[in-house]
Amino acid sequence: MEVKKFQTETKRLLDLMINSIYTHKEIFIRELISNASDAIDKRHYLSLTSEAYHNAGEYEILIDTNFDDRTITITDNGIGMTYDEVVNNLGTIAKSGSKEFIKQLSEEQNKGEVDIIGQFGVGFYSAFMVSDKVVVETRNALSDKGYRFTSDGLEEYSIEEIEKPLIGTKIIVYLRDNSEEENYDKYLEEYEIKRLVRKYSDYIRYPIRMNITNSEPILDSEGKPTGNYSEVTELQTLNSMIPIWKKNKSEVSEEELNEFYKSKFNDYENPIINVFTSVEGNVTYNAICYIPSHAPYDLYSDTYEKGLQLYTKGVFILDKCKELIPNY
Ligand code: ADP
Repeated sequence: MEVKKFQTETKRLLDLMINSIYTHKEIFIRELISNASDAIDKRHYLSLTSEAYHNAGEYEILIDTNFDDRTITITDNGIGMTYDEVVNNLGTIAKSGSKEFIKQLSEEQNKGEVDIIGQFGVGFYSAFMVSDKVVVETRNALSDKGYRFTSDGLEEYSIEEIEKPLIGTKIIVYLRDNSEEENYDKYLEEYEIKRLVRKYSDYIRYPIRMNITNSEPILDSEGKPTGNYSEVTELQTLNSMIPIWKKNKSEVSEEELNEFYKSKFNDYENPIINVFTSVEGNVTYNAICYIPSHAPYDLYSDTYEKGLQLYTKGVFILDKCKELIPNY
């Protein structure tokens, strides 16, 4: 086992994460799922030209929680990392985007405002907002060995060789102890994970699955309820995968559009109109705008916030992006 020090800039970012007063710590799940999805994209792309990357099974992202260890595990069967990639990708910050992020985050923190984590892809390191130890087990298709990266996010990380039959990456997040400000245990609850996946990662293209336990009535031989229940655990897909705005307009019915609006925005009435557009050019986007059949109750108050929900690559980024819509 080798122990390595984090590069100075990485340490700086980790410090910011660990001491983060950012209130939306929950986005760490979004970030880890997005990484898993990117890794599957990469594997899929390479598998088109190289046998080594071929996946005999189905691509998927698995989430598992363990109450005894207080861990959340996110497993993907994506591209995985070689030894060098673990060191270069997790031990250092290579991307200019992250460097810019650190700069902005420090400036914002000085102003007492930290609302930009959600907009940047801070990625992997966001796990340290909720955890005091992160373990990554990974294997790339081109390597016979797997590697385990372990860190508390402070000064250093360790890296060791492991046996890992499956190609891909498993990230184990050890939750911090609960504090007065934050109840980290909530991330172990099935319904919380379900909520977060639906909120942030509903349109990830690969199935995000988790074992869900339900109690179901036990029926007698005639199919009548006996009054007893049994616990049934099954693997469920938590995300709906295809965003309605990515579909071809001609394939989407008015009813589907209305149902989507009502469930998404908790309205019981249909909107009076919708505008469905796809634009390709210097800027490419798909959008659906709905005009509700009644004005929001706070429309004329100074607390009213306008804006459109913004998604990038199927990942929820901003709830009310005001720049996307004029005041009128
Ligand atoms: P970003 O995803 O924005 O590049 P991250 O800090 O989240 O930044 O991740 C750094 C790098 O680590 C990624 O670019 C990727 O190469 C690698 N990585 C992270 N998670 C995974 C994963 N689940 N599978 C394979 N590689 C990963």
